[in-house]
Amino acid sequence: EEDQELLGSWGFEINESDPEEADPVVAIVGRPNVGKSTIINRIIGHREAVVEDKPGVTRDRVSYKAEWAGKDFTLVDTGGWEADAKGIDAQVAAQAEIAVAHADVVLLVVDAIVGISNTDEAIVRMLRRVKKPILLVANKVDAEHQEAEVHALWSLGMGEPFPVSGVHGRGLADLLDALLKVIPEHSQYAEPEALGGPRRIALVGRPNVGKSSLLNKLADEERAVVNDLAGTTRDPVDEIVELGDRPWRFVDTAGIRRRVHMAKGADFYASLRTQTAIERSEVCVVLLDVSEPISEQDVRIIQQVVDSGRALVLAFNKWDTLDEERRELLEREIDRDLAHVAWAPRVNISARTGWHKDKLVPALETALEAWDSRISTGRFNAFLGEIVAAHPHPLRGGKQPRILFGTQVSSRPPKFVLFTTGFLDPGYRRFIVRRLRETFDFTGTPIEISMRVRE
Ligand code: GDP
Ligand code: GDP
Repeated sequence: EEDQELLGSWGFEINESDPEEADPVVAIVGRPNVGKSTIINRIIGHREAVVEDKPGVTRDRVSYKAEWAGKDFTLVDTGGWEADAKGIDAQVAAQAEIAVAHADVVLLVVDAIVGISNTDEAIVRMLRRVKKPILLVANKVDAEHQEAEVHALWSLGMGEPFPVSGVHGRGLADLLDALLKVIPEHSQYAEPEALGGPRRIALVGRPNVGKSSLLNKLADEERAVVNDLAGTTRDPVDEIVELGDRPWRFVDTAGIRRRVHMAKGADFYASLRTQTAIERSEVCVVLLDVSEPISEQDVRIIQQVVDSGRALVLAFNKWDTLDEERRELLEREIDRDLAHVAWAPRVNISARTGWHKDKLVPALETALEAWDSRISTGRFNAFLGEIVAAHPHPLRGGKQPRILFGTQVSSRPPKFVLFTTGFLDPGYRRFIVRRLRETFDFTGTPIEISMRVRE
């Protein structure tokens, strides 16, 4: 229609892919140095496997679009974490576990020449519970005479090993042919935009804020339907809990319930799990412990949620411990440290007693509604027209950048693009965001505004 045409004239496309038709997902797991990246580079062609250079944990899983014999699929790499000598097995296994939970097919890569290591075995132990197709890839078989080495890999109990050479490309065609035989048409597990099904909630927060207490309070009393959600039987990654007459999917409850404590790598593991849970969720409940001052770690976790574009609810837990003095301090801490997320609904609860736990669902629903929301281009431009008329952009060097047109390009979270004749000052952009929030109720969702400038 008209909008689309106008956008097209700016070289801009609205891309609304159908989430129910996501390409099948293939996870590549294996310890460091077995050749995962090399194999991925071979499969995706000549493009470099660009590992996102983001600090922290978000770079740990990278996806690539791949294709074989006309069939599209997504390859998920699990490499790239810091090798910490002590915690490495646990970290590799955790990475693999999370990647595998959302894959339709798993490629387990081992180094056929070096043979099986303890880390390989740790990964295999995790994979034994997985009821998904797993192909065992015996890498570094560069020449035919090395194929004898491959027989030893039958002992892993992962079926027939496929000998390949990532470096030379040897054997990859056979491997990919075998992959196509087991791959589904569309992903059964892809995340996160899946429509339908229960909405996904992550309970996050630093250790001891009360995540597991809250989960127990909600689950035990509200008929938890714990089922086999990630394809693993003994340790479901997620749980469905019925709250307010509808089911909700709490993501990575395994991470909350299991309370892994490792001397080394524990922080890494915890922050990895937090980031992954955030990414897998639609709405995050960040718990804060009101018996202690709001900490940098609390603020950082809230920022992770905002940066990931998830809906946000703040739950101030352990309210039963609050006395008048602490309560006043808390109000000041909230003003000082949480002013930038004043748009997030706040609920005061006690996970221990269950007090106010019924306030959670309305807050979640409010936040999700805003997160899902769409404003028509007509309404949005009427809004822009009004604020520009009342508060035009200040003159800059005799010129005045004008907003020609704007549109919401996506939801979840709402993202807007403004088409302008010049760069808008950051202050003016903040003003627009503020007015947007005042005009359209965006309680509980981050919003994003970007610009397309035509000088
Ligand atoms: P990753 O950590 O599992 O992603 O492993 P990389 O892809 O980074 O490979 C680790 C090392 O193994 C690199 O030095 C690669 O060049 C080497 N390598 C990967 N595939 C092969 C192979 O098929 N044959 C041989 N000889 N070396 C390989
Ligand atoms: P997690 O590490 O975030 O999962 O925190 P837990 O649920 O294990 O709780 C840590 C500690 O805080 C436990 O001793 C809980 O009993 C306690 N706790 C959790 N919620 C509350 C609450 O609402 N009030 C009080 N007084 N203590 C709580």
